[in-house]
Amino acid sequence: MTRLKKGILHGSLTLIGLALLVLFVILPSYVDGKKNVVLDHAPYQISERAQTLHDSLRVADLHADTLLWKRNPAKRQSRGHTDFVRLREGNVALQVFTTVTFVPKNMNTGANTANKDAMTLLTIAQLWPIRTWSSIFERATYQAQRLQKLEQNAGGDFIIARTQSDLANALTKRHTNKNMLVGILGTEGAHPLEGKLENLDKLYAEGYRQIGLQHFFDNELGGSLHGVSKAGLSPFGREVIDAIADKGMIIDVAHSSVQTVKDVLAMTDAPIVISHTGIVSLCNHPDRNIPDHLLKQIADRGGIIGVGYWETAVCDTSPDGIAKMLIHGANTFGVDHIALGSDYDGAVTTRFDVSEIAVLTDALLKQGMSDDHIRKVMGENQIAFYLKHLPK
Ligand SMILES: [Zn+2]
Repeated sequence: MTRLKKGILHGSLTLIGLALLVLFVILPSYVDGKKNVVLDHAPYQISERAQTLHDSLRVADLHADTLLWKRNPAKRQSRGHTDFVRLREGNVALQVFTTVTFVPKNMNTGANTANKDAMTLLTIAQLWPIRTWSSIFERATYQAQRLQKLEQNAGGDFIIARTQSDLANALTKRHTNKNMLVGILGTEGAHPLEGKLENLDKLYAEGYRQIGLQHFFDNELGGSLHGVSKAGLSPFGREVIDAIADKGMIIDVAHSSVQTVKDVLAMTDAPIVISHTGIVSLCNHPDRNIPDHLLKQIADRGGIIGVGYWETAVCDTSPDGIAKMLIHGANTFGVDHIALGSDYDGAVTTRFDVSEIAVLTDALLKQGMSDDHIRKVMGENQIAFYLKHLPK
């Protein structure tokens, strides 16, 4: 080989090496760091009274997309909002882990189509199995399997609650083991069914117990709040709702169109949550959040409303702003129906990560909420809901 040829070969290999480095190492952490932001802030001052109250709570949260990202949730991470270590630092007892499986290119809250998927590159760059590259269903099963592995390696300190008694037993264990953490698996949109009802059985077998119906685009089940059609439930959507109810799973109407939510409320008595939302009467973003009268119907039938921490949910993303929204929700829909729905790791910018969540207890106290009501919105409402509505 001539010196020139050697040089070209060497240069090519270096370029390929650099491209691989960018794709598999730099890109995943860059996207994660860019999307899941905690704004810089001075350490929060939390009163002794608030910290003591917070330490006695069972904190719960309805929505975190942590499984999407290339980080080990068992270890404390410097990126993103949530991992098991930070959940325990925040005294969280129960976290619903929701799974994102398709992201429209140029995602917005107005009108997305499902034509182009921005997630394929992320699945490849994060070295997810090849089966996930082209299958939305496989992306859901893979993320569930990630959580199952974490459960297997947790030495009993983390379980996925599949039944009421799983949750009850874990909470009993938590009396003597403060590290005890419970996860529940939920989908962010039901497009992983890929239009096949039998895939619901497979998701159930993987441990999913909560099914979000839509994400940012219309799917086989019906219209998204941010889709093009603004339609209600399709005939397939109705079949799925019946099947979810039959299996004792929970319906999550976050991101569903107004008409889809109306159709769900009209056709079933099954338990409903809206896992991460804002409340339009205090923060006017109707392209992200459904109207108050629908939230009221969800609450009136025993459902749970998870209040988010990001801008289009609460407008004021400070701890005081979120506390104000929680109190507004409790006053408007009943204190028994309001919960936390952070959307941590869901490509949102927040003012605190989960390790700092006592700041919310502090803010609620400062704004005059009673200890008893704080206990409810910070976790007990959600825990009571799942103890009642998970499969027996
Ligand atoms: Zn979401």
